[in-house]
Amino acid sequence: MLAMQPVVLAEEALAKPRELEQLLSKIQRDSSILAASIRNAKGVTLARVGDADFSDFAIDDVVAGRRDKLARFALGGKCYDLAWSATAGGQRLVFLTRLDSSQINTLLAAFILRIAGLVALIVAVVTARTMLVLYRSVLRPFFMLRRSMIAAAAHPDHADDYRIHERPRNEFGDVFQAHDEMLTRVVESKRADQLRAEERARFLARHDPLTGLPNRDFFLEHLRQTLPVACERGEQVQVQVLNLAGFSAINSALGQNVGDRMLIEVARKLNQGVSAGQFVARLGGDEFGIVNAGPVSPAQAAEHAERILAEIEHLLAIDGNEVRPRGRIGIAYSSTGCTDAETALHDAEVVLTRIRSDARARYQFFSPEMTQEAQRRQETERGLRQALERGELRLFYQPKIALDQAGAGRPYAACEALIRWQHPARGLISPGEFIPIAEACGLIVPIGEWVLREACAQVRRWREAGLTPPRVAVNVAALQFRDPKLPEMVRGAIAAAGVESDALELEITESAAMSDVTLTVAVLASLRAVGVRLSIDDFGTGYSSLSYLRKFDIDAIKIDKSFVDDIGDANADAICDAIIRLGHSLGKKIIAEGVETRAQLEFLSSRRCEEAQGFLFARPMPADDIAPKLPRAPT
Ligand code: C2E
Ligand code: MG
Ligand code: MG
Repeated sequence: MLAMQPVVLAEEALAKPRELEQLLSKIQRDSSILAASIRNAKGVTLARVGDADFSDFAIDDVVAGRRDKLARFALGGKCYDLAWSATAGGQRLVFLTRLDSSQINTLLAAFILRIAGLVALIVAVVTARTMLVLYRSVLRPFFMLRRSMIAAAAHPDHADDYRIHERPRNEFGDVFQAHDEMLTRVVESKRADQLRAEERARFLARHDPLTGLPNRDFFLEHLRQTLPVACERGEQVQVQVLNLAGFSAINSALGQNVGDRMLIEVARKLNQGVSAGQFVARLGGDEFGIVNAGPVSPAQAAEHAERILAEIEHLLAIDGNEVRPRGRIGIAYSSTGCTDAETALHDAEVVLTRIRSDARARYQFFSPEMTQEAQRRQETERGLRQALERGELRLFYQPKIALDQAGAGRPYAACEALIRWQHPARGLISPGEFIPIAEACGLIVPIGEWVLREACAQVRRWREAGLTPPRVAVNVAALQFRDPKLPEMVRGAIAAAGVESDALELEITESAAMSDVTLTVAVLASLRAVGVRLSIDDFGTGYSSLSYLRKFDIDAIKIDKSFVDDIGDANADAICDAIIRLGHSLGKKIIAEGVETRAQLEFLSSRRCEEAQGFLFARPMPADDIAPKLPRAPT
């Protein structure tokens, strides 16, 4: 070993060089020292071993105490000389040693190897330990977190099964806690979503998604609960079914969005007015149901219906259109509540079907005869569907006489086409019986098209028979009038028959024209573009406002029969007079319908009414009966 053992010299040893030399020999034996020498401060050698010659070793600085030690390689690097000073026994001594440097290298190499091995071992141990610490404190928690998150993401419904319950006392502890809380929240939010979805599904099963009102099933369910209770207490129940007049026409003319918004608005108003004991539902389409249970007299039920109608019939501005919902209510009133839900609802709906055909009816109570009538209506509707295909419909023609042409043989200004149904069992059925039904079920559209085509074809047939036919007037139902395809259909009928467009006149009832003035103005303009003549039928019954009448691009106004009937009565005279003056001031022709007496004719002629129609001149008749009365065409 190279390490120099401190040489402890007793004071007395210095006096015995022999012992010093023995001591040096012992040291030499136990170490790699080749030679050694001890000198005093004066440079006198006190003891020496080995044969090393240190004479060329300049150690003056050590001897003089200026330096503590000196070292050098000697004998061409084979030896390593070391000189140092130390104080022993109160005097300073200089020690000189020669070491075998070849051995130093071997020892040094062995030492370095051992150190390297040790370092490697330490590195391995430290690395392993570091890895272990790293694994325990970082990797393992990270992997746990990863595993848990992947599993939780795959099964979010029970994500909290993958909570990590360990809480390491480092940052991962906080992360695990946050992670677990997050999983709990995921599960809570999932459950809340699920509850909401279930709640929504339950709601939709019993409610109408558009208006949010209870649906038909819920309405019946409510009735099934309410009626037995009312029956037991002997309390009244009224079931009202409200529907919106002309709703499908609004839907097809202005678009479903406008129709939907109208339904939402009506639903909102109905719902707003609901009080205890009342229940409102949307039964489907434009039909709403209202149950009113409790002590209600028929008069109160009627008042309630009027209130509802007043509430919903306000002008609505939707997407730049002005529409006014018009309601009709069928009421099934039970004074004891002892009826079943289905019957009560059915009865109210029967009333509604009945009042649908009556433009003026706003609400009506159910009566048992209505059921029979409803059945009759259903049969008529079924038969009417086949009537078109089987060719059972006929057109009769009733002349309109030109009053402004003097003389007894006044010419026909026009002929009004009036439909009849040649029923195989019931004979000839008048339009009053089936047109309202056709209007209510929509059949009026194909029937109306048939009338238009047949009327135009008749003009053609009269012409082909060498006659000069008058203009033919065709009645257009409200539903047809709102059909966006009407102008095209009219054009098609004229073209198919090969007649001029002014050979055709269309009669639109005042009530149809007034139900939506904006739409009427637009439809009249497109019909005008087709070239047909236009008149307002049944004038005086539809509550026209004069300002609206001014906007309608029409040729003539037809005074309703009810006013003509009363001519001779001062009031009726005044009304007819006013209508004629008004029409003339607006530049329209006046036609009077239902003229039955000479007195009526004279009154109308004196007021310069242009045309008259009525039994006084002729009843509606088949085309063949009209033919002999038509002038022959000039050859
Ligand atoms: P409207 O268009 O006002 O037709 C006049 C009705 O009064 C006709 O009844 C006609 O026969 C009747 N009438 C004419 N003059 C007199 C008279 O002097 N005295 C009496 N008591 N009645 C007279 P009709 O043919 O039964 O038609 C009734 C209604 O049916 C028509 O009223 C019209 O609204 C409707 N209608 C008839 N044909 C058609 C059609 O092809 N399409 C449509 N949409 N409706 C039609
Ligand atoms: Mg008419
Ligand atoms: Mg009329």
